Amino acid sequence: MIELPNQNPCEFCEGMAGRDDTWAVIGECEHTQTVINPSQYEIGQCCVITRRHVGTLLDLSDEECSAIIVAAKRVANALVNAFEPLGVLTFQNNGVYSGQEVPHYHFHVVPRQQGSDWGIGPPQLAVFEGAGRVQGTLHDSSSDGARRARVKVAAHKLHEVAALIRSNLPD
Ligand SMILES: [Zn+2]
Repeated sequence: MIELPNQNPCEFCEGMAGRDDTWAVIGECEHTQTVINPSQYEIGQCCVITRRHVGTLLDLSDEECSAIIVAAKRVANALVNAFEPLGVLTFQNNGVYSGQEVPHYHFHVVPRQQGSDWGIGPPQLAVFEGAGRVQGTLHDSSSDGARRARVKVAAHKLHEVAALIRSNLPD
């Protein structure tokens, strides 16, 4: 059984219900909403989120699976147009032991640039020698606070970035 993070109320359900001023929608369809991630480890970092409150990949319908990738491709095109990134990272966490922090399915779409605040990768995955983590040990989160604080962005800025991405969506 995959263990989900505890969060009540769910911040994505709150956002979709219009109760979060940082919630900035880039696109939507019957099954998904694409939003700007409130934590901007990279400028323009987005998430495709299911409209249904479900936890992980294992809970998705086939229709939701298709809709998620279609939405991810669409926003990736917009990110390339808007930011000319060096690359686009997509990833998705299932369960607390994979780094999932919100118990509601989401698929990350991240334009990667030089000078990322992620170092060599998401911190919970860093097991390379010298990266601060020994394989087989729990992630030491004691230094995560400073990184998390650096990537918090004001609501008005998030809406500005979302509008820029929206204006770069393909037809
Ligand atoms: Zn939810």
